[in-house]
Amino acid sequence: MRFRFILLALFLSLALPASASESNEAEFQSWVKDFKKQAVEQGISKTTLDQAFEHVTLNQKVLDLDSRQPEFTRTFWQYFRSAVTEWRIAKGRYLYQKHRRLLDEVTKKYGVPGRFLVAFWGMETNFGGYTGNIPIIESLATLAFDPRRSEFFSKELIDALKILDQGHVTLDEMKGSWAGAMGQCQFMPSNYVRYAVDGDGDGKKDLWGSLPDVFFSAGNFLSTLGWQKQENWGREVSLPENFNYVLADGKTARPLAEWSKMGLKLADGRPLPKEDMQAKLILPSDYRGPAFLVFDNFKVIKRWNNSNNYALGVAHLADRIIGRPDLSKKAPKDDKALSKTQMKSIQERLNWLGYDAGKPDGIVGSQTRSALRAFQAERDLPADGYPSHRMLDMLLSTQK
Ligand code: CA
Repeated sequence: MRFRFILLALFLSLALPASASESNEAEFQSWVKDFKKQAVEQGISKTTLDQAFEHVTLNQKVLDLDSRQPEFTRTFWQYFRSAVTEWRIAKGRYLYQKHRRLLDEVTKKYGVPGRFLVAFWGMETNFGGYTGNIPIIESLATLAFDPRRSEFFSKELIDALKILDQGHVTLDEMKGSWAGAMGQCQFMPSNYVRYAVDGDGDGKKDLWGSLPDVFFSAGNFLSTLGWQKQENWGREVSLPENFNYVLADGKTARPLAEWSKMGLKLADGRPLPKEDMQAKLILPSDYRGPAFLVFDNFKVIKRWNNSNNYALGVAHLADRIIGRPDLSKKAPKDDKALSKTQMKSIQERLNWLGYDAGKPDGIVGSQTRSALRAFQAERDLPADGYPSHRMLDMLLSTQK
């Protein structure tokens, strides 16, 4: 399989006229020339610029990774089980103990408990084990040259150059992900400029090699974005029978007392805490999966990466690091990702049956989910609005 792929790649590269990539490179180099002028105007030194761009060429691999569109999006369970692995939990527990003193210092200063700092670190780079090996200036210059998100990446590139200019890291050390995320907690350059902290006091903000710098920076980031030190992130809960799943919209905040009145309990059956707090209800999978009440800190976690699944991964890993239990639910046997084509056919079929799912595009958003909920509700099914193979089969066999 791999061999065939290499042959195919070889064929494609031979089939492409050499002049196309050469002219791309020429265009890129002329773009770099213009960009360097703008960078000087924004205060970057000429020495830094000349050194930073000396060996930079258009990186085709970065462009390929950026334009990749997966046909399948993983389900919550598939994502979650690959994010919160036994290995990560065990390693997280060990490192949480090992760096306890340092973590306590960060908590004292920023109010963020150490278990979350370790969980982010584990999710982002396997606790510093893999921080990426693509030269940041090259990846950002390539993405800034590409018209798709040129403005965003041009700003990131300027910030990356500022970091070099200030001498926090050498050009050779400044490596990271193809999309420009850097160091052990994978900060984008703009976040680095805003939130990085010199935790060990050596005058440099080194997010690659200094753990105090990494933890203090992560703490500063979360605290600046509104981390509430008295609050946790949220809790797994159990829902009463015949629950109205429309309430699990992840958007409407209600007091804990109100959720309690509706019959929600902690996953282990105990009553919800009595605190005067607002919470939103999230159901990341279908009605058979786990439900979570989340507090304001959950929103702060999402500022790191704007995805419920990611934030639930970080939060649950943090819980497991201090010995809290696994989720109360297991993935059902029929948990299988739908392809974009299958999602699209769910949307088409809903529209055909008279439930407005919007323009079929294979991306399930709130309109498709409401349409699916209406379809389920009329058939006395749990109205979780969750697109599954089962729902697809049911839609395909339903007549008008
Ligand atoms: Ca430092």
